Amino acid sequence: MISLRSALGIALFAAASAAQAQPVLNIYSARHYQTDEALYANFTKQTGIKINRLDGKEEELVERIKNEGASSPADVLITVDAARLEIADKAGLFQPVQSKLLESRIPANLRTPNWMAFSTRARVIAYNKASVNPDWVQTYEDLANPRLKGQVCVRSGSHPYNLSLGAAMLAHNGEAKTEEWARGVVANFARAPKGGDTDQLKAVAAGECGVAISNSYYLARLMRSTKPEDQEVVKKLAVVWPNQKTWGTHINVSGAGVVKTAPNREAAVKFLEYLASDEAQAYFADGNNEWPAVKTAKFKNPALDTLGDFRSDSLPIGQLAASTVQAQKVFDRAGWR
Ligand code: FE
Repeated sequence: MISLRSALGIALFAAASAAQAQPVLNIYSARHYQTDEALYANFTKQTGIKINRLDGKEEELVERIKNEGASSPADVLITVDAARLEIADKAGLFQPVQSKLLESRIPANLRTPNWMAFSTRARVIAYNKASVNPDWVQTYEDLANPRLKGQVCVRSGSHPYNLSLGAAMLAHNGEAKTEEWARGVVANFARAPKGGDTDQLKAVAAGECGVAISNSYYLARLMRSTKPEDQEVVKKLAVVWPNQKTWGTHINVSGAGVVKTAPNREAAVKFLEYLASDEAQAYFADGNNEWPAVKTAKFKNPALDTLGDFRSDSLPIGQLAASTVQAQKVFDRAGWR
């Protein structure tokens, strides 16, 4: 039998630990945008759950969670690109999340059982208005046409952004045609792949190449830049939403999942649900000039308004993610280094 005194003691202890036990949510994040500060602060304000954030490069964070094993403090992993989310998922780092709220807010093609998208970006074609006829660059397939010989600038074939595009090509055109396409693109290179997407855009503006593949937010970033040199780049470029008449423009995502060993699972799910709220969606997308995954979320972004509307590929993001390894093999054979 428990004496009154010890029962009281237990009650007091329980109250004290409840106050203390408000969990601290550990988020491993490969997003490094300044506006994300407000995103996290707002979650704490709403829920009282403090956030401890570890920023790092995608590959480093994945390695770290693997190495930490069962004792990892990580609750949530946030990263960009389906190819990278797939690497984390294949390594068994995520656990399934069931949430009616997430199911109702995030479109089905932007979710997998283990991770989901919170914003989208498009892989677009940018060309030099002075030297390239827009009719030549209306589709990704066009980039392999010999009339663009010596004109194409694009980053490495092993970069996740291109692997995800390759995965979309595989899904729509099959392996043989995708390999033929990759060979054609390589044959049209203006130079060996180097640098990031912004470097390709700058090279198009400088006339080193006529056309580049880039994620949409790099363009939006240049459009919103107050630097005169960036504005000069923007003036020389025009943008195409590729494949509007066929399967739609390839899109990718920023996404997150709950870590398999998450010490604070409940808080982690709450955080994902918070990311799907209207307010968080606006922060989350605006921070990197992306589109909210939640269709009804409002946002104010002059660059995105200028870029306008387009038809995106409706391929499920999980299917895309699963083919990125195959895409790498195809690109390797095609010599896309
Ligand atoms: Fe990027």
